[in-house]
Amino acid sequence: MKVKCPDCDGIAELSDSFSYVRCEKCHLDLTYGEYVRYIGKKNPVYKDILSDYKLR
Ligand SMILES: [Zn+2]
Repeated sequence: MKVKCPDCDGIAELSDSFSYVRCEKCHLDLTYGEYVRYIGKKNPVYKDILSDYKLR
């Protein structure tokens, strides 16, 4: 699914298995865990939203 890229605010791709997040625009390439921590540093509210999503 499409997620917001934390680096360039472009559209990044989250793999269906939640194993990685990649952005073609700025070549971001993180595991999902790294991605959550990364955006959590920038925006604590967003981190909570993603944590909820993962639990469903
Ligand atoms: Zn990007």
